[in-house]
Amino acid sequence: MRECFRCGKEMNINFDIKVDAQGYGIKITEKGVFGKTIQKPKVAICPYCGEISLYIEDISKVKA
Ligand SMILES: [Zn+2]
Repeated sequence: MRECFRCGKEMNINFDIKVDAQGYGIKITEKGVFGKTIQKPKVAICPYCGEISLYIEDISKVKA
């Protein structure tokens, strides 16, 4: 479960984010213009206060 930063309630997860008129979404890449794509972000929305949160599902490619 993903908890809302603002009100602590459970957020609805797994929404996509897209760039209007392109349809490719946005990507999270490693640094640099030709950085390898890590993953497309997902969006969580709190149904109580409207807070949105971006996250990626697989964090194994991200160095801690
Ligand atoms: Zn909330």
